[in-house]
Amino acid sequence: AAKRSQSGFQIYAPSMDAASQESLSLISELRQAIENHELRLYLQPKVDLATQRIGGAEALVRWQHPVRGLVPPMDFIPFAEQTGFIRQITSWMLRASAEAWLSLHRQGLALPISVNLSTRDLMDQDLPIKIADLAGGVPPSALCLEITESAIMDDPQRALQTLEQLHALGFKLSIDDFGTGYSSLAYLKQLSVDELKIDRSFVMGMEKDLDDAKIVRSTIELAHNLGLRVVAEGLETGKAWTLLEMLGCDQAQGYFLARPMPSDQFGAWLRDWEPP
Ligand code: C2E
Ligand code: CA
Ligand code: CA
Ligand code: CA
Repeated sequence: AAKRSQSGFQIYAPSMDAASQESLSLISELRQAIENHELRLYLQPKVDLATQRIGGAEALVRWQHPVRGLVPPMDFIPFAEQTGFIRQITSWMLRASAEAWLSLHRQGLALPISVNLSTRDLMDQDLPIKIADLAGGVPPSALCLEITESAIMDDPQRALQTLEQLHALGFKLSIDDFGTGYSSLAYLKQLSVDELKIDRSFVMGMEKDLDDAKIVRSTIELAHNLGLRVVAEGLETGKAWTLLEMLGCDQAQGYFLARPMPSDQFGAWLRDWEPP
């Protein structure tokens, strides 16, 4: 089923032939997007619930299109993943995130930045070398790589190998959208990950839905039992903040704290921020 999004790009299933013309033009537009510097790095902060300090930020891509305006990732990331173009986007994001980190560092505001990886990235044998190269002067421990469960389950052996190498290089690893994919606890045990991110659907539902609350609580327990840090996504209310703090969740990220913002505004936001 195809549907038109606000930006006008077509989101479609991989099997749809009718979209091939449009997909060709989207590919060339994406290529131009990088050449013409139309991609934007947005940062969204995460708070340490115990200390009420900002403990990191997630890097999220946006596309400032000359005609369509600011295009959200959901309108081009799935497509970029299907076509393999995601690798170029990932490289761009890693470079931009490293630059943002160095700029914040110069302002005395060093904090870890998390970058999203896709299945395609994990299948790339050269990924660890590439990341080490793109990270430049950023210490590996200041870069966290977010991977979804489904990206790992696509080809677990290969993913495990890549993640092991990244871990050996000193990069932090995080399992994104935890609880939504085909999670295999057996693999989780083998992985050298540092962090679990609870999917926002559970966090946003936990105030009204007891099952969601139970899932959030047991994920926090599971993470801690495995020695992992746990981050809640989709923090939208003060009540959720209190609840997560009570449950011992380590970090939270969401609109209640801040929406993702252009990376060049992040330093000023950080300096002004006070706990609610
Ligand atoms: P994600 O990795 O799960 O990123 C979190 C998404 O949740 C972001 O959407 C963020 O804006 C949104 N979010 C944060 N707090 C809240 C909240 O309190 N309420 C709600 N309703 N949403 C919240 P965004 O930026 O639109 O990104 C959507 C997805 O696109 C990301 O989900 C990720 O899967 C993908 N994506 C974004 N940037 C990149 C990228 O550079 N590379 C790759 N591979 N994927 C990316
Ligand atoms: Ca993420
Ligand atoms: Ca997520
Ligand atoms: Ca998600």
